[in-house]
Amino acid sequence: MNTRTCLRVALVLTFAPTVVSAQSDGPVARQYKTVADRIIDGAVADSGVAWNTLARFTDYSGSRISGSAALERGIDWLLAEMKKDGLDNVHSEPAMVPHWVRGAESATLITPRLSKLPMLGLGGSVGTPRGGILAEVLVVNSFDDLKAHAAAAKGKIVLFDVPFTTYGATVRYRGTGAVEAAKVGAVAMLMRSVTPYSMRTPHTGAMNYDSTVKKIPNAAITVEDAMMLHRMQGRGEKIVVKLEMSAETLPDAPSRNVVGELRGSEKPDEVVVFGGHIDSWDVGQGAMDDGGGVVVAWEAIRLMKKLGLTPKRTIRVVGWVDEEHGSRGADAYRDAHRAEADNHALVIESDGGVFNPESYGFSGSDSARAIITQIAALAARTGIKSVAASGGGADIGPMMALGVPGVGFEVERSRYFWFHHTDADTVDKLDPVEMQRCVAAMALLAYIVADLPNKLPR
Ligand SMILES: [Zn+2]
Repeated sequence: MNTRTCLRVALVLTFAPTVVSAQSDGPVARQYKTVADRIIDGAVADSGVAWNTLARFTDYSGSRISGSAALERGIDWLLAEMKKDGLDNVHSEPAMVPHWVRGAESATLITPRLSKLPMLGLGGSVGTPRGGILAEVLVVNSFDDLKAHAAAAKGKIVLFDVPFTTYGATVRYRGTGAVEAAKVGAVAMLMRSVTPYSMRTPHTGAMNYDSTVKKIPNAAITVEDAMMLHRMQGRGEKIVVKLEMSAETLPDAPSRNVVGELRGSEKPDEVVVFGGHIDSWDVGQGAMDDGGGVVVAWEAIRLMKKLGLTPKRTIRVVGWVDEEHGSRGADAYRDAHRAEADNHALVIESDGGVFNPESYGFSGSDSARAIITQIAALAARTGIKSVAASGGGADIGPMMALGVPGVGFEVERSRYFWFHHTDADTVDKLDPVEMQRCVAAMALLAYIVADLPNKLPR
């Protein structure tokens, strides 16, 4: 998930969702009840299939940061395996992506005592001069606190020790903390990892520079260490840290979006698109974020083929590239399919983990919402309880901006930010049964919208 997505999540939480119960007797619900139950029963019977596919994918590719050979290797694997599963029109579509490399890095507490500080440089950060930066640390708990202590920040390493509230509110420090710290003369920026729960695990993620402000190195340390340094400062102890980072940004690299389809029977040129992003950060396996989002969509098509279901319109799984750095894959998809925007009935994104399904966050017309609400009622057995007032995501945003209705697939995410952008984002954090429910909830939404007599109204 990048900052573009979290602002949308905040929006979803603002307006009242439509709780699904009453509409289960509507025309769409009546017409598709049987097939919806077949899809759910089929997914439940396929226990562990999606989880095993995700395990094979992420064990094979490892982490898949934009510009890396590992990402291209993962893309080749997805294309080959989707072909083996008999998906139609399996191909890749080109996209140029940023190529940031982390290199060697470390952070060491020098005074008041010597200690390694587990850390991860933030994506896009510049490196330190050779030999590193050795400086005193100023700990602050907000942008205002920094402003209040601006004079004291000059020539120091500024540490933002900001407790997690919501992702949207807390991630702002990752986004622009280095710029604000540089404005007051800091030589580097450290920040408390963006997470509500920590086992001394640092969380990376994208940051942004301002071309009018000096670029300073920046990295995340653990919640535990940020709190400890804050206590030390509170006791009046002088804190000195050595930060070494050899991060650099190389020229953009060629990469690809992954596409596979279930070709429609009557209106094959009209499409329902669903999926997630295939890139990840260069830590862990990118299983939860977001290998799972791609795999549940792919598995949904494999399940429909197994059940002999062929909707009127084409269902297209897309693995968008480069969601983490700047959504170049999403922009490339839009640019390649702009002329087909009218033929896109719905775009669906899963990029919040594949835990127990909870809601379809929908953005579109009221008449379309009435249909999505009936479909949500049919998905109640998967855990879907509501249709949120709006939805979307970084990867479907560009197509939605062209007027295509969109769904952000929402799941129970209490554990999502525990592992988000860490070395602990591995397949064992996901539950095979919950993943099958995601397969079912994604499959029946895509199938019914792709099979409706009339295209989803705009
Ligand atoms: Zn993500």
